[in-house]
Amino acid sequence: MYNFNYQRPGSLDDAIKALGAAEDGKLVAGGMTLLPTMKQRLAQPSDLIDLNGIGDMDGISRDGDSVVIGAMTRHADVAASDVVRGAIPALADLAEGIGDPQVRNRGSPMPSARSESAGIAPRTTSDAATSA
Ligand SMILES: Cc1cc2nc3c(=O)[nH]c(=O)nc-3n(C[C@H](O)[C@H](O)[C@H](O)COP(=O)(O)OP(=O)(O)OC[C@H]3O[C@@H](n4cnc5c(N)ncnc54)[C@H](O)[C@@H]3O)c2cc1C
Repeated sequence: MYNFNYQRPGSLDDAIKALGAAEDGKLVAGGMTLLPTMKQRLAQPSDLIDLNGIGDMDGISRDGDSVVIGAMTRHADVAASDVVRGAIPALADLAEGIGDPQVRNRGSPMPSARSESAGIAPRTTSDAATSA
C-alpha cells in the first residue's frame, strides 16, 4: 500500500464535495473490489472517500413498477429481500450466488452495476434501480 487521504463524510453533499476537491479521489463502499485493486497497485487514488458514514444510501423499496435499491445496500440484503424476490426473483438468486459470505455482506450492487456484472442499471450515484 502507499499513502492516501482517508475521508468519511456524513452526508452525500459532503461526499460529492470531497470527491470534487480530491486530486484523484475514489469512493469506497464495501471495498471488496477497490482495496484488492489498490493492494496490487492497479489503482493509486489520492483520497479514499468512505460512503459508510452516510446513513441514507441503503435500503430496498417498491416505487410503482420499479424496485429501488440504494447504492449502499449489500448483496446479502438484496438476496434476502422479499421485495426483490417477489418482483425480480432472478436478481435475488444472482445476489445470493455472488462471491462468498464476506463479499455478500460487504459488497454493494452499485459497483457491480457499473461493471455490468450484476445486470442492474444504475440511476444515480446514490441509488440504483431496475424496472420490475
Ligand atoms: C472473492 C470475490 C468474488 C466475487 N464474485 C462475484 C460474482 O460472482 N458476481 C459478481 O457480480 N461480482 C462478484 N464479485 C464482485 C463483487 O460483487 C464486488 O466486489 C462488489 O460488488 C463491489 O462492491 P463494493 O461495495 O465492495 O465496491 P468497492 O470495492 O467499494 O468499489 C468498487 C468501485 O466502485 C466505485 N463505487 C463504489 N460505490 C460507488 C457509488 N455509490 N457510486 C459510484 N461509484 C462507486 C468505487 O469508487 C470503486 O471504483 C466478487 C468479488 C470478490 C472479491
